[in-house]
Amino acid sequence: MRVHGLYRRSRSWVAGWALWAAPRAVIALVLIVVAVGAFVTTATTFLMPVTTTDALRFGVLAVCATVAIELTRHFERRREYARTSAAPYIDTKSVWSFAAVIVLPPVFASAMVIFTYALAWSRVKPHAQKLPYRWVFSCATVLVGTQAAVAVLALGMPGYPGAPGGASLNGLLELGVVACAAVARWAINVGLVMAAIALSKPTTTARDMFANFGEQLLEAGAIGLGLVAAAVVVSNPFVLPGIVVAMVALHRGILLNQYQQASRIDAKTGLATAGWWHDFAERSLARAQDHGETLGLLIVDLDHFKRLNDTFGHPHGDLVLKAVAQELIAEIRDQDACGRWGGEEFVVVLPEVGTRQNLRNVAERIRRRVQTIVVDPPDGAPVGAHTSITASVGGAIYPSEGIGTIDELLLAADTALYAAKNSGRNTVRLGGSDADVQSRPAELPSQLEPPSTTL
Ligand code: GH3
Ligand code: MG
Ligand code: MG
Repeated sequence: MRVHGLYRRSRSWVAGWALWAAPRAVIALVLIVVAVGAFVTTATTFLMPVTTTDALRFGVLAVCATVAIELTRHFERRREYARTSAAPYIDTKSVWSFAAVIVLPPVFASAMVIFTYALAWSRVKPHAQKLPYRWVFSCATVLVGTQAAVAVLALGMPGYPGAPGGASLNGLLELGVVACAAVARWAINVGLVMAAIALSKPTTTARDMFANFGEQLLEAGAIGLGLVAAAVVVSNPFVLPGIVVAMVALHRGILLNQYQQASRIDAKTGLATAGWWHDFAERSLARAQDHGETLGLLIVDLDHFKRLNDTFGHPHGDLVLKAVAQELIAEIRDQDACGRWGGEEFVVVLPEVGTRQNLRNVAERIRRRVQTIVVDPPDGAPVGAHTSITASVGGAIYPSEGIGTIDELLLAADTALYAAKNSGRNTVRLGGSDADVQSRPAELPSQLEPPSTTL
C-alpha cells in the first residue's frame, strides 16, 4: 500500500513539472541533454583510480567554492534578476569546477559541477525553483562539456590529471590544450543553452541572446582563474584564498558597472535618467556660479501625447519617445545633457548657453525638429488619424532674478511650459520678465486643437 502511495505521489509530482508546459522541441532537448549528461557522468566515474590526495584537493576546492558562492550570492542573485530570459546565465562557478577538470580525475570533475550547482541552487536562486528544469538542464550541459574537456585533456596533456607542465615549451603546449578544453566546455554549455532558448521562444533574435555577451568576459575570467586555481591547489593551496578574493572583486566590479549604467541611462530612450540628470545639472549650476557663467534649462513636453497613445497604442508611443530622444540628442552640444524627466517630458541643461536669445534659439530648433518627426503608424491604425508630433518647450536661464538653485530653474521653466501649453502648444516660452517674445509659429498644423484655456 505504502509503495503504491509513494508511486502515485511521485507520479503526480512528475506530472506537475513545469517542463511539460514547454514546447515539445524543448522537452526533447532537455531530456536528451540530461540523459547524455547522466550517461557521460556515470560512464567516466570509474575510468580512473582516485587517491587520497585527489580527495583532499577536492575538499580544498569545495571549501573555496562554498566561501566564494557565499560571498557573491547577493551579487549573483541580482545579476540573475537583471538578466533577460533570452540571455544565457553566466556561470562563475566554473572557477572551481574547471580547476577540478584539470587536476582531478573525471569523477571529481563531475562531482564539483554537481556540488557547485547544488550549492548555488540552494543559496543563490531560490526564486528560480519554479523552473528547476532549467537549472538541471544547465547543470547537464556543463556535465557534458566537462567530460568533453576531460577528453581533450586526456588526449593532449600527458600529465593529466594534474597542473599543466612547468616553465618549458611543453608547458606552453599544455596550456594550449587546456585552452582547447576550456573552449570545448564553454561552447557546449553556451551552445546548448542558446539552442534551448531559441526553441522555447522562436521570436528570440541572435541579438537578444548575445545581449549579455560582454558578461561572457566574466565567464572567461572565471575559467582563467580556474586554470590558476588548478596550478595553485597542486603547488600551494594556501594561496587559494587569493583567488576567492579575486572572484568576489570581479563580481563587484562588473555589477557596480552595470548598476551605474542602469541608474544613468533611461532604458526606453537611452537618455540620462532623471536622477543622474539632476545631479549633473546641480554640478553644472555650481560651476556656473563659481565662474560667473550662464546656464540654460529647457523642459520639452510632447503635446497631446495621451491622444497619440490612445489612437495608436502604447508601443507606438514608445517609438515616438525614442525618436524624440534621438532628435534631442542630435540638436544639443556635447556639454549639454538631456534627460528623461518623466513619461513624455524631457529636460535639457545647457552650460554656458550665453544669452537668453541663444537659449530661445536652441528651444526653437528643438521645437521645429520635433515637428519634423515621422513615425509610421502601426498596421490597422485608424485611417486619417493625425500622426503629427509636436512639443511645447519651457525654458529658464541662470542668472535670473530669484533663481539660485536647479529646482528654482526647473520651477521657472515649468511655469513657462505651462504658459506655452496655455497659449496653444507647439510653442516656446521662456521664464523671466524681460522681452518674452512669443515664438509661436504663425500657423499651427490644422489638426491641432484650438488653444486650451483650462490648462
Ligand atoms: P499635453 O499636451 O497637455 O502635454 O497633453 P498630454 O496628453 O501629452 O499630457 P498628459 O500628461 O495628460 O499625458 C501624458 C501621457 O504620456 C500619458 C501617458 O499615458 C503617456 N506616457 C507616459 N509615459 C509613457 C511611456 O513610457 N510610453 C508611452 N507610450 N506613453 C507614456
Ligand atoms: Mg504632454
Ligand atoms: Mg507631461
